[in-house]
Amino acid sequence: MNLTNEIKSYLERLFPICRSLTGDGNRETFRILKEIVPLNTIEYKSGSKVYDWTIPDEWNVRDAWIKDSVGNKLVDFSDTNLHLVGYSEPIHRKMHFVELAKHLHVHQNLTEHVPYRTSYYERNWGFCVTEKQLLTLSSSNGKLEVFVDSKLDPKGSLTIGELLIPGHSEKEILISTYICHPSLANDNLSGVVMTAFLAREILKKNNLNYSYRILWVPETIGAISYCAMNESEMKKIQCGMVVTTVGGPGNYGYKQSYNSKHSINLAIEEIFRNEGIEFITYPFDIHGSDERQYSSQGFRINVASVTKDKYYEYPYYHSSADDLKFVCPKRINQSMKIYSKILDKLDREKIYKNKFPNCEVMLSKHGLYPKIGGNLLPIQGRETEIDTILSILWMSDGKTGVYEIANNIKVNEGLVISISADLCSRGIMKQLA
Ligand code: ZN
Repeated sequence: MNLTNEIKSYLERLFPICRSLTGDGNRETFRILKEIVPLNTIEYKSGSKVYDWTIPDEWNVRDAWIKDSVGNKLVDFSDTNLHLVGYSEPIHRKMHFVELAKHLHVHQNLTEHVPYRTSYYERNWGFCVTEKQLLTLSSSNGKLEVFVDSKLDPKGSLTIGELLIPGHSEKEILISTYICHPSLANDNLSGVVMTAFLAREILKKNNLNYSYRILWVPETIGAISYCAMNESEMKKIQCGMVVTTVGGPGNYGYKQSYNSKHSINLAIEEIFRNEGIEFITYPFDIHGSDERQYSSQGFRINVASVTKDKYYEYPYYHSSADDLKFVCPKRINQSMKIYSKILDKLDREKIYKNKFPNCEVMLSKHGLYPKIGGNLLPIQGRETEIDTILSILWMSDGKTGVYEIANNIKVNEGLVISISADLCSRGIMKQLA
């Protein structure tokens, strides 16, 4: 089977599964993804404190529907899991429409479709319906029977998928995607599936410079839990990507990491240019996905996303119209190749650390400075070799890569590497990756 067809078959198998922050749907998703890559699943117990958050009770649903007074099902969870508000608590009761109406949600614009709604941290229940279903419910005679056969288990757990791929360096690149959305194809089944195939691609690569940490987490609480449980490892990460919305028919785009000058942004733009792809640049902002956690003060990892029909931006976002007709396996394959090329570029990046962070090194002692001082005036707009050496030492803090340094001082990467290698041989710098 070719890759596009493989992606297609996994999209079809995974799409109907009811995923959420927790639950058997997530575990079933991981069982299927394990056919693609040997990821590990980790369970974090409900009730565990993770920074300012608490891992919620595990949520599972067997069935949910609304019947009219003579027993016709007017809304049925088995048609699409989007009909039920995520984390709905159990209920089985007859009520008039006026009471039910407080628990019904329709899409503002796409009235023929069902919106996606959740109520994770406030106990509630609800149904998402089309406008037509809303009319049928409102004009139905007598009481309506509401049934939600769900369970919220305080003894449950939250499931995470993790794959660690070692490279030569201890420095890591993070790839993270979110698995908490139920039957929504671009946001984010496309990301879940693409990440699995990308991981398989990385596993095939020989001679990786960096190590790779690949995560499938429920959004927000999953990323927070993982950071809390792996704090020291997460603080060693060089940079990362959150894989989301990669299969739509619209434009490519990328959300920059918080430092727009960081190598990851330079690498993404270079690959887009090399591939001749027009793209939209979304500057970093505090909304979005799990880059919010990974880039928070304590971690400050530069995390970017390459998207095709970015979340928030396309009209079908968070509605039942975001289905398998909207995404295309071929485009997911194409997005995967772009991610793979970006990672190839990042994997080749070298990182050096100045061994003398406290004030400048004495260049003349190391044979790097003219012995007669006084005649070296900085020349506007022209860097001398000494300037380049000083700039490289200034920026080589063990975190800043050579792409960023080269871009900053407007010389090519090769020059930064050769000067850095020379400084290493003189014992002034050391190479970290
Ligand atoms: Zn979403």
